[in-house]
Amino acid sequence: MLALLAEATRILYTEQPLEQRLQRLFALLRPVVNFRDARLTCWLQGAQPGTVRQQFYAADGWPYPWDDGLTRRVALDGGVVVRPIVVSNPAAAGEHLPVMQAAYLGAPLHWERRLWGVLELRAEQPTSLEGSRELVAALLPQLAVAIAQTGQQLRAAPVGASDGETPTGLTLLPPHQQQLLALDARLEEMLALPELLSLLLRQALSATGAEAGAVLLVDHAVGELLLQIAEGFPPEHWHGLTATRRQRLSWDAAGLTGRADECDHAPLLRDVTHEPLLLPTGMDVQSELIAPILVNDCAAALLVLDSTRVNAFGVEDLAFMRALCARAAHPLSRTLHYQDAIESANYLGQVFNNLPTGLALLDVNGKVVRTNPAWTQLWGLEQASRRETFHVSLDLIELLLPRLSEPLRLTEFCSAGQRSPNETMNLRVRLSNPVQELQILAVPTRDSQRQISGRLWAVDDVTREREADRLKNEFVSIVSHELRTPLTSILGYTELLLSREFKSEERIQFIKTVYDEAERLAKLVEDLLSVSRIEAGKVQLNRWLNSLNSIVNELSTQLHTQLVVHRLLLDIAPDLPPVYIDRDKIKQVIFNILNNAIKYSPKGGEIALEMALAPPLRLPANHPPGRWIRVAIRDQGLGIAPDDLSRIWERFYRVDNTNTRRIGGTGLGLSITKALVELHEGQIWVESELGRGSSFYFTLPVPGA
Ligand code: ADP
Repeated sequence: MLALLAEATRILYTEQPLEQRLQRLFALLRPVVNFRDARLTCWLQGAQPGTVRQQFYAADGWPYPWDDGLTRRVALDGGVVVRPIVVSNPAAAGEHLPVMQAAYLGAPLHWERRLWGVLELRAEQPTSLEGSRELVAALLPQLAVAIAQTGQQLRAAPVGASDGETPTGLTLLPPHQQQLLALDARLEEMLALPELLSLLLRQALSATGAEAGAVLLVDHAVGELLLQIAEGFPPEHWHGLTATRRQRLSWDAAGLTGRADECDHAPLLRDVTHEPLLLPTGMDVQSELIAPILVNDCAAALLVLDSTRVNAFGVEDLAFMRALCARAAHPLSRTLHYQDAIESANYLGQVFNNLPTGLALLDVNGKVVRTNPAWTQLWGLEQASRRETFHVSLDLIELLLPRLSEPLRLTEFCSAGQRSPNETMNLRVRLSNPVQELQILAVPTRDSQRQISGRLWAVDDVTREREADRLKNEFVSIVSHELRTPLTSILGYTELLLSREFKSEERIQFIKTVYDEAERLAKLVEDLLSVSRIEAGKVQLNRWLNSLNSIVNELSTQLHTQLVVHRLLLDIAPDLPPVYIDRDKIKQVIFNILNNAIKYSPKGGEIALEMALAPPLRLPANHPPGRWIRVAIRDQGLGIAPDDLSRIWERFYRVDNTNTRRIGGTGLGLSITKALVELHEGQIWVESELGRGSSFYFTLPVPGA
């Protein structure tokens, strides 16, 4: 749109007659706005008193007559009007045309508090033109200025030469005229707001002889002035002003309360001995001149000039400032639009780049046009994204194929998107290695003409939510099962015991079962509490120098009953140094692993417990260096399948097969064990072969000498 506006401006500012300029403008707009017919009605103020009404029609017009009543209404109403209309030709006309639904856009051209004309467009589709409202609105001031200038030329022509009159009637000094003439071409090219403001301020300072000046933008929405640039103020003050470059002044602080309106009309010539200053200048200001630059009849910026001389500004300065501000109106509106466009592009760019949701903009063919960093990261695409052209349905699937559990679904999703481009679609994709679950939302995108321009893919990583769901479900099912089984036995046996007398051995057997089941319940509660304490980071280690031998002795007594059917072989290095540990916690670690070795081994299986200083080469590759004791617990039990090996450390994860189901458990033991070892700065790992047995290892640091 900016390029189009710039081109339109160039056309309107050429030296050609107005008619030719308008025809070129219509030709430029026609393919973009898609109108069928256009007309400009304008009122020029010529040399003769009164105004001349002229109408210009787009070449290749529509045979349907225009509705002058509508034109008048637009001229009176004051705003851009877009509405559906019905076109027909009057009964009297020879040629017969069908009655048709059409669209109409009417826009009044205001400048300098005057109506200069009305621009009208008609289109064949009843709904079109609405999208062009903004573009047309941006063109209006330029068109108005073009018409106003044509009027001036008409007026100037009979006298032979320009009399230097400004549109408001004040006379310009010849050097000022020269200066403005030279300025015109430069103003026309400018796009950057700071450059424009600084050019205007310098011109104003040099023409009026003011010692200092500033430009402020007016923010009508909040009633504030925004200091943009200042020049000529004492260095220390200038420093203060630039330190907060984008300084805001409220109307009140600026002493301008209630004068906003006044500012909208004319430059103010001030004797500041009676008036508060607009800016805190830091110098002995005696005169201040404030000139507003009006955009759409409203002060968009204020040019403030200060002088230490009394009555420094004369009528010729006012004339110059008025002429300067009038010329600056259109470039200011253009640069403000441009600035707005840049700011919003910049803002949207930042949002786009910083969102944790992976975003990709696709064109209509599914080719990726732009992506944000989260996109590349979520799909793990570092390399691929640098490909020249990246096509979601082809390249993404090809790249992810080894990780996609259901490649067909993604393919279908992509092709469905192309079949029905205006539908919003949703898909969940599961990836393996590492396990990842992604949620894709694909929404259609539209260009400024409301045409479908492609799709936006938004991808969120929902692995954690999924995991949380799974954990919750497993928690409920495991805990309820693990509670119900022992409770049923306890209730059953106690009921039996109460119902009648039993022989003493029988009674002892029952009570022992009740005791064992109660112990199982107590262990479940203890494990659940441990997990929640670990999770909350509330586990405090009570560390002392301890010998591991004594822990092993205690444990073999404790596991005495379980160990009748298994053989426990101890291989403990004789010179084992003491370790700095929380005794109870490490006992719990060894207990859990031994208990599993017993649980998951057949009767008669051999279980070995080894403790020795770890030979550095026998530690895993990523193990930290230093002196470590390595504890190994080996069994000849069920073993663990490779797929389950990495998952047995997760909370509530249980290998699911007929054997383990029969054995029972909560899937909490190893997750607690791992957390406790890591709290001691150690590492834990496992080697296992299905059907042959497992070896669990963990390390504990040996404190330095
Ligand atoms: P639980 O034993 O209560 O199920 P754990 O967290 O202690 O929970 O163990 C998780 C899973 O790891 C167990 O369900 C079991 O399938 C597997 N596992 C643990 N230790 C062994 C072992 N020594 N031999 C075979 N499988 C084991």
